[in-house]
Amino acid sequence: MAQDKKQWHPKFLNYMERIIKDPSYRGLPIPKKADGSYAWIVTAQSKTGQQRIDWCIRKARELGLITGYETYPGMYADVMLQIHPTKWKVCQICGKEMSLYYHYPSANFLKSLNRKFGTDFSGCDHISDIWDELIHRGVCEGDIAAFLIHAGSLNLNARTSSKEEIIAALEYACRKGGRKCLGPGAMSNFPDRYDGFHTYNRCCRAAQDKGRSKENLKSYTKDRRAYEYWSDGNIHAANQFMGSRFFHGTSADHIGPISLGFVHDPRYLQPMPGGDNSSKRDRLQTADIERILETERRTGVYPMSWQSKLIWEFIRENYASHPDKVPTLYRDALKQNMADYMFILLTILKKCPENGTSFLVSAFLEPNYDYFRYSYQFNAKGEITARTARHYTARGQYETERYKRIAIEAVYDYSEKNNRNCRNDLNSTELAALSSICSSIESGAPLNENKQLIKDLVETIEERIIRSL
Ligand SMILES: [Zn+2]
Repeated sequence: MAQDKKQWHPKFLNYMERIIKDPSYRGLPIPKKADGSYAWIVTAQSKTGQQRIDWCIRKARELGLITGYETYPGMYADVMLQIHPTKWKVCQICGKEMSLYYHYPSANFLKSLNRKFGTDFSGCDHISDIWDELIHRGVCEGDIAAFLIHAGSLNLNARTSSKEEIIAALEYACRKGGRKCLGPGAMSNFPDRYDGFHTYNRCCRAAQDKGRSKENLKSYTKDRRAYEYWSDGNIHAANQFMGSRFFHGTSADHIGPISLGFVHDPRYLQPMPGGDNSSKRDRLQTADIERILETERRTGVYPMSWQSKLIWEFIRENYASHPDKVPTLYRDALKQNMADYMFILLTILKKCPENGTSFLVSAFLEPNYDYFRYSYQFNAKGEITARTARHYTARGQYETERYKRIAIEAVYDYSEKNNRNCRNDLNSTELAALSSICSSIESGAPLNENKQLIKDLVETIEERIIRSL
Protein backbone atom coordinates (compact mmCIF):
# COMPACT_ATOMS: atom_id res chain seq x y z
CA MET A 1 0.00 0.00 0.00
CA ALA A 2 2.86 2.33 0.79
CA GLN A 3 4.21 2.09 -2.72
CA ASP A 4 6.19 5.01 -3.96
CA LYS A 5 4.67 6.22 -7.17
CA LYS A 6 8.02 7.52 -8.31
CA GLN A 7 9.02 3.90 -8.90
CA TRP A 8 5.99 3.18 -10.97
CA HIS A 9 6.52 2.91 -14.66
CA PRO A 10 5.96 6.24 -16.47
CA LYS A 11 3.62 4.51 -18.88
CA PHE A 12 1.52 3.39 -15.93
CA LEU A 13 1.39 6.91 -14.47
CA ASN A 14 0.18 8.05 -17.85
CA TYR A 15 -2.38 5.24 -17.97
CA MET A 16 -3.78 6.19 -14.53
CA GLU A 17 -4.24 9.75 -15.64
CA ARG A 18 -6.08 8.69 -18.80
CA ILE A 19 -8.39 6.40 -16.83
CA ILE A 20 -9.19 8.96 -14.14
CA LYS A 21 -10.13 11.50 -16.81
CA ASP A 22 -12.15 9.05 -18.87
CA PRO A 23 -15.91 9.74 -18.77
CA SER A 24 -16.62 6.05 -18.17
CA TYR A 25 -15.40 6.47 -14.60
CA ARG A 26 -17.26 9.67 -13.84
CA GLY A 27 -18.40 9.57 -10.23
CA LEU A 28 -16.11 6.73 -9.19
CA PRO A 29 -14.43 8.09 -6.04
CA ILE A 30 -10.71 8.71 -5.98
CA PRO A 31 -9.51 11.02 -3.20
CA LYS A 32 -6.42 13.13 -3.52
CA LYS A 33 -3.64 12.42 -1.09
CA ALA A 34 -1.68 14.98 0.90
CA ASP A 35 0.99 15.22 -1.78
CA GLY A 36 -1.62 16.00 -4.41
CA SER A 37 -1.49 12.62 -6.12
CA TYR A 38 -4.56 10.42 -6.52
CA ALA A 39 -5.25 7.45 -4.26
CA TRP A 40 -5.47 4.79 -6.97
CA ILE A 41 -5.23 2.09 -4.33
CA VAL A 42 -7.63 1.91 -1.40
CA THR A 43 -8.95 -0.95 0.75
CA ALA A 44 -12.43 -2.38 0.43
CA GLN A 45 -13.10 -1.55 4.08
CA SER A 46 -12.21 2.11 3.72
CA LYS A 47 -14.84 4.76 3.15
CA THR A 48 -13.67 5.23 -0.43
CA GLY A 49 -13.73 1.46 -0.93
CA GLN A 50 -17.36 1.30 0.18
CA GLN A 51 -18.25 4.25 -2.07
CA ARG A 52 -16.61 2.53 -5.02
CA ILE A 53 -18.67 -0.59 -4.36
CA ASP A 54 -21.89 1.43 -4.26
CA TRP A 55 -20.92 3.14 -7.50
CA CYS A 56 -20.20 -0.17 -9.17
CA ILE A 57 -23.55 -1.65 -8.15
CA ARG A 58 -25.32 1.38 -9.63
CA LYS A 59 -23.24 0.96 -12.78
CA ALA A 60 -24.18 -2.72 -13.00
CA ARG A 61 -27.88 -1.73 -12.91
CA GLU A 62 -27.25 0.93 -15.52
CA LEU A 63 -25.60 -1.64 -17.78
CA GLY A 64 -28.44 -4.09 -17.21
CA LEU A 65 -26.25 -6.68 -15.51
CA ILE A 66 -28.53 -6.74 -12.45
CA THR A 67 -32.06 -5.50 -11.85
CA GLY A 68 -32.20 -5.12 -8.06
CA TYR A 69 -29.29 -4.56 -5.71
CA GLU A 70 -28.23 -8.13 -5.42
CA THR A 71 -24.75 -8.69 -6.79
CA TYR A 72 -23.36 -11.93 -8.20
CA PRO A 73 -19.86 -13.38 -8.16
CA GLY A 74 -17.72 -11.72 -10.78
CA MET A 75 -20.04 -8.76 -11.21
CA TYR A 76 -17.43 -6.13 -10.38
CA ALA A 77 -15.08 -7.67 -12.91
CA ASP A 78 -17.84 -7.65 -15.54
CA VAL A 79 -18.60 -3.99 -14.94
CA MET A 80 -15.01 -2.83 -14.89
CA LEU A 81 -14.17 -4.75 -18.05
CA GLN A 82 -17.23 -3.49 -19.85
CA ILE A 83 -16.57 0.18 -19.09
CA HIS A 84 -12.81 0.02 -19.70
CA PRO A 85 -12.13 2.32 -22.65
CA THR A 86 -9.44 0.25 -24.39
CA LYS A 87 -9.56 -3.20 -22.70
CA TRP A 88 -5.78 -3.01 -22.60
CA LYS A 89 -4.01 -2.25 -19.35
CA VAL A 90 -0.49 -0.97 -18.75
CA CYS A 91 1.67 -2.84 -16.24
CA GLN A 92 2.75 -0.79 -13.25
CA ILE A 93 6.15 -2.49 -13.16
CA CYS A 94 7.30 -2.83 -16.76
CA GLY A 95 4.89 -0.69 -18.74
CA LYS A 96 3.79 -3.55 -21.00
CA GLU A 97 0.21 -3.35 -22.22
CA MET A 98 -1.86 -6.48 -21.89
CA SER A 99 -5.40 -7.41 -22.80
CA LEU A 100 -7.92 -7.46 -19.98
CA TYR A 101 -9.74 -10.27 -21.72
CA TYR A 102 -8.79 -13.89 -21.13
CA HIS A 103 -6.27 -13.98 -23.94
CA TYR A 104 -3.18 -15.58 -22.38
CA PRO A 105 -2.46 -19.29 -21.99
CA SER A 106 -2.67 -20.83 -18.54
CA ALA A 107 0.20 -23.03 -17.39
CA ASN A 108 -1.46 -26.35 -18.25
CA PHE A 109 -2.88 -25.19 -21.54
CA LEU A 110 0.50 -23.75 -22.46
CA LYS A 111 2.13 -27.10 -21.81
CA SER A 112 -0.21 -28.96 -24.11
CA LEU A 113 -0.06 -26.22 -26.75
CA ASN A 114 3.73 -26.21 -26.80
CA ARG A 115 3.83 -29.98 -26.83
CA LYS A 116 1.31 -30.18 -29.63
CA PHE A 117 3.07 -27.70 -31.91
CA GLY A 118 6.65 -28.13 -30.73
CA THR A 119 6.83 -24.49 -29.70
CA ASP A 120 8.09 -22.44 -26.78
CA PHE A 121 5.38 -19.87 -26.24
CA SER A 122 5.08 -18.16 -22.87
CA GLY A 123 2.08 -17.39 -20.70
CA CYS A 124 2.40 -13.76 -21.77
CA ASP A 125 1.95 -14.40 -25.46
CA HIS A 126 -1.46 -13.28 -26.70
CA ILE A 127 -3.48 -16.13 -28.18
CA SER A 128 -3.94 -14.15 -31.38
CA ASP A 129 -0.17 -13.71 -31.73
CA ILE A 130 0.30 -17.39 -31.05
CA TRP A 131 -2.16 -18.22 -33.81
CA ASP A 132 -0.33 -15.96 -36.29
CA GLU A 133 3.06 -17.28 -35.31
CA LEU A 134 1.92 -20.89 -35.79
CA ILE A 135 0.67 -20.00 -39.25
CA HIS A 136 4.04 -18.42 -40.01
CA ARG A 137 5.66 -21.67 -39.02
CA GLY A 138 3.62 -23.63 -41.49
CA VAL A 139 0.95 -25.06 -39.21
CA CYS A 140 -2.31 -25.19 -41.11
CA GLU A 141 -5.16 -23.08 -39.86
CA GLY A 142 -7.55 -26.01 -39.47
CA ASP A 143 -5.19 -27.70 -37.03
CA ILE A 144 -4.92 -24.63 -34.82
CA ALA A 145 -8.68 -24.18 -34.98
CA ALA A 146 -9.31 -27.82 -34.08
CA PHE A 147 -6.87 -27.64 -31.20
CA LEU A 148 -8.49 -24.56 -29.64
CA ILE A 149 -12.02 -25.84 -30.23
CA HIS A 150 -11.14 -29.10 -28.55
CA ALA A 151 -9.38 -27.37 -25.65
CA GLY A 152 -12.41 -25.20 -24.91
CA SER A 153 -15.05 -27.81 -25.85
CA LEU A 154 -16.43 -25.13 -28.15
CA ASN A 155 -19.45 -25.74 -30.27
CA LEU A 156 -17.74 -24.58 -33.47
CA ASN A 157 -16.62 -26.14 -36.71
CA ALA A 158 -12.84 -26.07 -37.23
CA ARG A 159 -13.18 -25.85 -40.97
CA THR A 160 -15.69 -23.03 -41.20
CA SER A 161 -15.08 -20.86 -38.12
CA SER A 162 -12.82 -17.83 -38.35
CA LYS A 163 -9.88 -17.11 -36.11
CA GLU A 164 -11.81 -14.23 -34.51
CA GLU A 165 -14.86 -16.39 -33.79
CA ILE A 166 -12.82 -19.16 -32.22
CA ILE A 167 -10.72 -16.88 -30.04
CA ALA A 168 -13.80 -14.96 -28.90
CA ALA A 169 -15.61 -18.18 -28.01
CA LEU A 170 -12.61 -19.62 -26.19
CA GLU A 171 -12.06 -16.36 -24.33
CA TYR A 172 -15.67 -16.32 -23.19
CA ALA A 173 -15.60 -19.98 -22.17
CA CYS A 174 -12.60 -19.23 -19.98
CA ARG A 175 -13.81 -15.92 -18.54
CA LYS A 176 -17.40 -16.94 -17.90
CA GLY A 177 -17.67 -20.68 -18.45
CA GLY A 178 -15.07 -22.02 -16.06
CA ARG A 179 -12.68 -23.25 -18.74
CA LYS A 180 -9.08 -22.93 -17.70
CA CYS A 181 -7.20 -22.57 -20.97
CA LEU A 182 -6.76 -18.81 -20.97
CA GLY A 183 -6.35 -16.13 -18.34
CA PRO A 184 -6.46 -12.32 -18.35
CA GLY A 185 -3.54 -9.91 -18.76
CA ALA A 186 -4.38 -8.53 -15.29
CA MET A 187 -6.52 -10.08 -12.56
CA SER A 188 -9.57 -8.20 -11.43
CA ASN A 189 -9.17 -6.35 -8.14
CA PHE A 190 -12.09 -4.15 -7.32
CA PRO A 191 -12.55 -1.91 -5.38
CA ASP A 192 -8.89 -1.94 -4.30
CA ARG A 193 -7.71 -0.55 -7.62
CA TYR A 194 -9.46 2.34 -9.27
CA ASP A 195 -9.78 0.68 -12.69
CA GLY A 196 -10.68 -2.62 -11.03
CA PHE A 197 -7.53 -4.53 -12.04
CA HIS A 198 -4.28 -5.42 -10.36
CA THR A 199 -1.56 -2.90 -10.97
CA TYR A 200 0.81 -5.76 -11.86
CA ASN A 201 0.05 -7.35 -15.18
CA ARG A 202 0.53 -11.01 -15.97
CA CYS A 203 4.01 -10.18 -17.26
CA CYS A 204 5.26 -9.20 -13.82
CA ARG A 205 3.05 -11.40 -11.69
CA ALA A 206 5.47 -14.31 -11.49
CA ALA A 207 9.21 -13.95 -11.48
CA GLN A 208 9.68 -16.58 -14.14
CA ASP A 209 7.52 -14.69 -16.61
CA LYS A 210 9.49 -11.51 -16.24
CA GLY A 211 10.51 -9.64 -19.32
CA ARG A 212 8.82 -11.96 -21.77
CA SER A 213 6.88 -10.31 -24.50
CA LYS A 214 5.77 -10.98 -28.01
CA GLU A 215 8.86 -9.16 -29.28
CA ASN A 216 11.07 -11.88 -27.93
CA LEU A 217 8.95 -14.87 -28.76
CA LYS A 218 11.77 -17.30 -28.74
CA SER A 219 11.48 -20.68 -30.24
CA TYR A 220 13.40 -23.83 -29.75
CA THR A 221 11.01 -25.68 -31.88
CA LYS A 222 11.44 -28.82 -33.85
CA ASP A 223 11.49 -26.93 -37.12
CA ARG A 224 14.19 -24.75 -35.73
CA ARG A 225 16.24 -27.82 -34.91
CA ALA A 226 15.79 -29.14 -38.42
CA TYR A 227 17.10 -25.90 -39.89
CA GLU A 228 20.03 -26.06 -37.53
CA TYR A 229 21.39 -29.22 -39.08
CA TRP A 230 21.08 -28.04 -42.68
CA SER A 231 18.92 -31.09 -43.30
CA ASP A 232 17.69 -32.21 -46.68
CA GLY A 233 14.11 -33.35 -47.20
CA ASN A 234 10.86 -31.50 -47.73
CA ILE A 235 11.43 -29.30 -44.72
CA HIS A 236 8.27 -27.26 -45.07
CA ALA A 237 6.03 -30.30 -45.39
CA ALA A 238 7.76 -31.77 -42.35
CA ASN A 239 6.99 -28.67 -40.27
CA GLN A 240 3.41 -28.73 -41.42
CA PHE A 241 3.02 -32.43 -40.68
CA MET A 242 4.45 -31.96 -37.17
CA GLY A 243 1.72 -29.42 -36.50
CA SER A 244 -1.03 -31.67 -37.81
CA ARG A 245 -3.72 -33.62 -36.00
CA PHE A 246 -1.67 -36.81 -36.33
CA PHE A 247 0.55 -35.55 -33.55
CA HIS A 248 -2.21 -34.53 -31.19
CA GLY A 249 -1.03 -35.02 -27.63
CA THR A 250 2.33 -36.38 -28.69
CA SER A 251 5.47 -34.90 -30.12
CA ALA A 252 6.97 -35.58 -33.52
CA ASP A 253 10.01 -37.77 -33.61
CA HIS A 254 12.46 -38.23 -36.46
CA ILE A 255 12.87 -41.93 -37.25
CA GLY A 256 16.42 -41.09 -38.25
CA PRO A 257 17.80 -38.34 -35.97
CA ILE A 258 18.49 -35.11 -37.83
CA SER A 259 21.50 -34.52 -35.59
CA LEU A 260 23.06 -37.54 -37.33
CA GLY A 261 22.35 -36.12 -40.77
CA PHE A 262 19.00 -37.73 -41.54
CA VAL A 263 16.45 -35.74 -43.50
CA HIS A 264 13.72 -33.51 -42.11
CA ASP A 265 10.81 -34.90 -44.06
CA PRO A 266 7.22 -35.85 -43.17
CA ARG A 267 7.75 -39.43 -44.31
CA TYR A 268 10.45 -39.87 -41.70
CA LEU A 269 8.44 -38.50 -38.80
CA GLN A 270 6.45 -40.53 -36.32
CA PRO A 271 4.45 -39.64 -33.22
CA MET A 272 6.12 -40.26 -29.93
CA PRO A 273 4.62 -39.90 -26.47
CA GLY A 274 5.92 -36.71 -24.85
CA GLY A 275 8.93 -37.12 -22.67
CA ASP A 276 10.49 -40.04 -24.51
CA ASN A 277 11.74 -37.78 -27.21
CA SER A 278 14.76 -36.19 -25.63
CA SER A 279 16.29 -39.49 -24.65
CA LYS A 280 16.06 -40.80 -28.19
CA ARG A 281 17.25 -37.68 -29.93
CA ASP A 282 20.49 -38.88 -31.42
CA ARG A 283 20.39 -42.60 -30.83
CA LEU A 284 20.47 -45.16 -33.59
CA GLN A 285 19.28 -48.75 -33.25
CA THR A 286 18.98 -51.59 -35.72
CA ALA A 287 15.21 -51.31 -35.51
CA ASP A 288 15.45 -47.64 -36.55
CA ILE A 289 17.54 -48.57 -39.58
CA GLU A 290 14.94 -51.12 -40.58
CA ARG A 291 12.13 -48.57 -40.26
CA ILE A 292 14.16 -46.14 -42.33
CA LEU A 293 14.78 -48.67 -45.07
CA GLU A 294 11.12 -49.70 -45.11
CA THR A 295 10.11 -46.04 -45.43
CA GLU A 296 12.51 -45.48 -48.29
CA ARG A 297 11.24 -48.56 -50.17
CA ARG A 298 7.65 -47.43 -49.69
CA THR A 299 8.07 -43.74 -50.51
CA GLY A 300 11.18 -43.46 -52.66
CA VAL A 301 12.36 -40.59 -50.48
CA TYR A 302 16.05 -40.79 -49.64
CA PRO A 303 16.55 -40.82 -45.86
CA MET A 304 19.91 -39.08 -45.53
CA SER A 305 21.11 -35.55 -46.20
CA TRP A 306 23.77 -35.30 -48.89
CA GLN A 307 26.61 -34.59 -46.49
CA SER A 308 26.27 -38.00 -44.81
CA LYS A 309 25.29 -40.11 -47.78
CA LEU A 310 28.45 -42.20 -48.13
CA ILE A 311 28.49 -43.19 -44.48
CA TRP A 312 24.82 -44.05 -44.65
CA GLU A 313 25.41 -46.24 -47.69
CA PHE A 314 28.13 -48.03 -45.78
CA ILE A 315 25.88 -48.55 -42.77
CA ARG A 316 23.09 -49.84 -44.97
CA GLU A 317 25.44 -52.49 -46.39
CA ASN A 318 26.90 -53.53 -43.08
CA TYR A 319 24.42 -53.06 -40.25
CA ALA A 320 22.87 -56.54 -40.57
CA SER A 321 26.18 -58.35 -40.16
CA HIS A 322 27.39 -56.01 -37.41
CA PRO A 323 24.35 -55.15 -35.27
CA ASP A 324 26.61 -54.50 -32.28
CA LYS A 325 28.25 -51.60 -34.13
CA VAL A 326 25.01 -49.76 -34.86
CA PRO A 327 24.30 -47.92 -31.58
CA THR A 328 27.95 -47.07 -30.96
CA LEU A 329 30.43 -47.04 -33.82
CA TYR A 330 28.01 -46.29 -36.67
CA ARG A 331 26.12 -43.68 -34.72
CA ASP A 332 29.35 -41.98 -33.64
CA ALA A 333 30.59 -41.99 -37.23
CA LEU A 334 27.49 -40.07 -38.34
CA LYS A 335 27.83 -37.69 -35.42
CA GLN A 336 31.50 -37.08 -36.18
CA ASN A 337 30.71 -36.44 -39.81
CA MET A 338 28.06 -33.87 -38.86
CA ALA A 339 30.54 -32.15 -36.55
CA ASP A 340 33.00 -31.98 -39.43
CA TYR A 341 30.39 -30.62 -41.80
CA MET A 342 29.32 -27.94 -39.35
CA PHE A 343 32.97 -27.04 -38.86
CA ILE A 344 33.34 -26.61 -42.62
CA LEU A 345 30.36 -24.28 -42.68
CA LEU A 346 31.68 -22.30 -39.72
CA THR A 347 35.12 -21.94 -41.27
CA ILE A 348 33.57 -20.62 -44.47
CA LEU A 349 31.53 -18.07 -42.52
CA LYS A 350 34.56 -16.95 -40.57
CA LYS A 351 37.17 -16.96 -43.32
CA CYS A 352 34.96 -15.50 -46.03
CA PRO A 353 33.58 -12.30 -44.54
CA GLU A 354 32.70 -11.02 -48.03
CA ASN A 355 31.02 -13.95 -49.73
CA GLY A 356 30.71 -16.70 -47.13
CA THR A 357 27.12 -16.21 -46.03
CA SER A 358 25.67 -15.55 -49.45
CA PHE A 359 27.56 -18.47 -50.93
CA LEU A 360 26.31 -20.95 -48.32
CA VAL A 361 22.76 -19.67 -48.68
CA SER A 362 22.78 -19.95 -52.47
CA ALA A 363 24.54 -23.29 -52.52
CA PHE A 364 22.72 -25.17 -49.79
CA LEU A 365 19.60 -23.36 -48.61
CA GLU A 366 18.04 -21.76 -51.67
CA PRO A 367 17.54 -25.12 -53.41
CA ASN A 368 15.04 -25.89 -50.61
CA TYR A 369 13.01 -22.69 -50.96
CA ASP A 370 10.61 -24.32 -53.40
CA TYR A 371 9.20 -26.48 -50.63
CA PHE A 372 7.74 -23.34 -49.07
CA ARG A 373 5.67 -22.66 -52.17
CA TYR A 374 3.12 -25.32 -51.32
CA SER A 375 0.73 -26.44 -48.63
CA TYR A 376 0.51 -30.15 -48.11
CA GLN A 377 -1.94 -32.73 -46.90
CA PHE A 378 -0.91 -36.01 -45.39
CA ASN A 379 -1.98 -39.46 -44.41
CA ALA A 380 -1.02 -40.88 -41.02
CA LYS A 381 2.32 -42.11 -42.38
CA GLY A 382 3.35 -38.63 -43.45
CA GLU A 383 2.93 -39.40 -47.11
CA ILE A 384 1.82 -36.34 -49.04
CA THR A 385 -1.69 -36.91 -50.38
CA ALA A 386 -2.30 -33.44 -51.80
CA ARG A 387 -0.30 -30.35 -52.58
CA THR A 388 -1.66 -26.90 -53.32
CA ALA A 389 0.24 -23.82 -54.39
CA ARG A 390 0.30 -21.10 -51.76
CA HIS A 391 0.17 -17.40 -52.31
CA TYR A 392 3.89 -16.95 -52.17
CA THR A 393 3.83 -13.47 -50.76
CA ALA A 394 4.95 -11.95 -47.51
CA ARG A 395 4.43 -15.11 -45.51
CA GLY A 396 6.52 -17.33 -47.76
CA GLN A 397 9.26 -14.78 -47.72
CA TYR A 398 9.11 -14.55 -43.96
CA GLU A 399 9.58 -18.30 -43.77
CA THR A 400 12.56 -18.48 -46.08
CA GLU A 401 14.17 -15.51 -44.32
CA ARG A 402 13.66 -17.27 -41.03
CA TYR A 403 15.05 -20.52 -42.42
CA LYS A 404 18.15 -18.68 -43.61
CA ARG A 405 18.60 -16.80 -40.34
CA ILE A 406 18.26 -19.88 -38.16
CA ALA A 407 20.53 -22.01 -40.34
CA ILE A 408 23.33 -19.43 -40.28
CA GLU A 409 22.97 -18.70 -36.56
CA ALA A 410 23.00 -22.41 -35.85
CA VAL A 411 26.42 -22.84 -37.40
CA TYR A 412 27.85 -20.51 -34.78
CA ASP A 413 25.77 -22.06 -31.99
CA TYR A 414 26.76 -25.57 -32.96
CA SER A 415 30.45 -24.90 -32.53
CA GLU A 416 29.84 -23.41 -29.10
CA LYS A 417 27.54 -26.15 -27.87
CA ASN A 418 29.48 -29.08 -29.25
CA ASN A 419 32.97 -27.89 -28.54
CA ARG A 420 33.56 -30.38 -25.79
CA ASN A 421 31.73 -33.54 -26.79
CA CYS A 422 32.18 -33.58 -30.55
CA ARG A 423 35.03 -31.64 -32.12
CA ASN A 424 35.89 -31.69 -35.77
CA ASP A 425 38.62 -34.17 -36.61
CA LEU A 426 39.83 -32.84 -39.94
CA ASN A 427 43.41 -33.84 -40.71
CA SER A 428 46.01 -31.46 -42.10
CA THR A 429 45.29 -32.34 -45.74
CA GLU A 430 41.59 -31.73 -45.24
CA LEU A 431 42.26 -28.47 -43.43
CA ALA A 432 44.44 -27.32 -46.30
CA ALA A 433 41.70 -28.19 -48.78
CA LEU A 434 39.19 -26.24 -46.71
CA SER A 435 41.50 -23.27 -46.59
CA SER A 436 41.84 -23.24 -50.36
CA ILE A 437 38.04 -23.55 -50.73
CA CYS A 438 37.67 -20.43 -48.60
CA SER A 439 40.08 -18.51 -50.85
CA SER A 440 38.14 -19.67 -53.86
CA ILE A 441 34.82 -18.52 -52.37
CA GLU A 442 36.26 -15.18 -51.34
CA SER A 443 37.82 -14.64 -54.78
CA GLY A 444 34.38 -14.97 -56.33
CA ALA A 445 34.81 -18.24 -58.24
CA PRO A 446 31.58 -19.63 -59.75
CA LEU A 447 29.08 -21.07 -57.30
CA ASN A 448 28.96 -24.56 -58.78
CA GLU A 449 32.72 -24.84 -58.78
CA ASN A 450 32.90 -24.01 -55.10
CA LYS A 451 29.98 -26.24 -54.31
CA GLN A 452 31.75 -29.13 -56.03
CA LEU A 453 34.93 -28.47 -54.04
CA ILE A 454 32.94 -28.71 -50.82
CA LYS A 455 31.24 -31.92 -51.94
CA ASP A 456 34.64 -33.41 -52.75
CA LEU A 457 35.99 -32.44 -49.36
CA VAL A 458 32.97 -33.82 -47.51
CA GLU A 459 33.28 -37.11 -49.38
CA THR A 460 36.98 -37.34 -48.59
CA ILE A 461 36.15 -36.95 -44.93
CA GLU A 462 33.35 -39.51 -45.12
CA GLU A 463 35.66 -42.03 -46.77
CA ARG A 464 38.26 -41.54 -44.07
CA ILE A 465 35.61 -42.05 -41.38
CA ILE A 466 34.33 -45.18 -43.13
CA ARG A 467 37.83 -46.68 -43.17
CA SER A 468 37.84 -46.52 -39.38
CA LEU A 469 34.60 -48.54 -39.06
ZN1 LIG B 1 4.84 -6.13 -16.40
